[in-house]
Amino acid sequence: MKLYNTLSKKVEDFIPYENKMVKMYTCGPTVYHFAHIGNLRTYICEDVLQKTLEYLGYHVKRVMNITDVGHMTSDGDTGEDKMQKGALREHKTVYEIADFYTEAFMNDIDRLNIKRPEIIERASDHIDTYIEMIKALLDKEYAYEAGGNIYFDVSKFPNYYELSGKNQEDLLVGVREDVEEDKSKRNPADFGLWFTLSKFENQVMQWDSPWGRGYPGWHIECSGICYKYLGEYLDIHCGGVDNIFPHHTNEIAQSEGFLGHRWCNYWCHGEHLNDSTGKMSKSKGEFLTLSLLESKGYHPLVYRLFCLNSHYRSQLVFSYEAMEATKNAYQKLLGRIASIKENRSGEKEVDKIKKFESKFKLALENDLNTANAVTTLYDVLKSDCSNETKLYLIESFDTVLSLDLLEETKIEQGLEQYIENQIQKRNKAKKEKNYELADKIRNDLLEKGIELKDSREGTTYTIRK
Ligand code: AMP
Ligand code: ZN
Repeated sequence: MKLYNTLSKKVEDFIPYENKMVKMYTCGPTVYHFAHIGNLRTYICEDVLQKTLEYLGYHVKRVMNITDVGHMTSDGDTGEDKMQKGALREHKTVYEIADFYTEAFMNDIDRLNIKRPEIIERASDHIDTYIEMIKALLDKEYAYEAGGNIYFDVSKFPNYYELSGKNQEDLLVGVREDVEEDKSKRNPADFGLWFTLSKFENQVMQWDSPWGRGYPGWHIECSGICYKYLGEYLDIHCGGVDNIFPHHTNEIAQSEGFLGHRWCNYWCHGEHLNDSTGKMSKSKGEFLTLSLLESKGYHPLVYRLFCLNSHYRSQLVFSYEAMEATKNAYQKLLGRIASIKENRSGEKEVDKIKKFESKFKLALENDLNTANAVTTLYDVLKSDCSNETKLYLIESFDTVLSLDLLEETKIEQGLEQYIENQIQKRNKAKKEKNYELADKIRNDLLEKGIELKDSREGTTYTIRK
């Protein structure tokens, strides 16, 4: 398996620490609002990565956090507390907000056929772990106390800029004078591990610590949860490109400072989904959620296919025209597969199965070229393989693509195409005076609630709801 590694900036052979066992960590959502479809693109990409590894014979142990504390609107230590913002907006407690949007997120990923990570943990449930790590970082002098808060001293960690490829000067260029910064920090890039001086009124999520009552910084939660559930060595860490700096940069500094050795070998980042005006955001105009797409008639798996048709390291621009085209393609695809299913014939051809499976693997092994993997599916449909072979391959590919290609219930999305196929089959049967088959097709459709009506103009149909 070849993967682009943000750390080395190269496509590399993927070699896990332990033979066929892969430890994978994926940053989870900040549950102060619904996920937008950009966020969901990142989770689709991570799902495809996990399933590809499983397809290639690896066992994947995947952990994800749910951010319900510590994340500011700036991604650094400045700005508003996202959770509190959500609570104020909806006149609820932060815990109610977290519960509601965690549930909504689970619902979104289920509808996108994203496999739930084996371990999903809330950030606020692991305060003890963060305190243990912060204590050790203070002992090792990676961290210091200033102005009542605990900060990580980035000057103590020589590789601090390795992941982002930035340097201290680059980062200072972006620092605005008017942005509130704790003046007691040693370096502007130092980041908070624990805050005892809440700048927010009535901060609900606070805990006792050796440094006073307060709350953890955002970054320490991922280092903490990862350490607790996956131990000292991690194979792959994923997220969207915006996570490279500061979030993942800070995670590396904390985890390696704490552990005293190299921690994670492969860093994978998904590019953003943009809307026509640029960056997708939760505060901008029509906020694109999966439910909004559904309300406009786009099944979540149409969106999944839309994502699979592009490479995860390329920016993708969302538009309803593109959704419409993908919806049509998905319906046709399901219709074609449904008619193959109707007509199971031939034997399973081992050689052809091997040939197409290796083509499919090759696409995915090549830094997750999902567009080529989807093309391989079309190649199978077009091929001279027997229908049994085709169905075997479709089922096999769908363990990674997860487009419900063979599910009866999903036939509805390809209904029009499917019915048209059946009508043509019936016309052919009638022409050949095979009235038995023609009647069977008509009755089978009727059982599915589809009534055919013949007239001089041709055959039309009505669908009973
Ligand atoms: P958040 O809920 O803000 O913590 O973000 C959840 C995930 O979505 C993170 O991995 C982000 O890197 C990722 N993300 C944020 N915006 C986008 C976007 N426009 N396109 C793709 N992924 C994104
Ligand atoms: Zn994280």
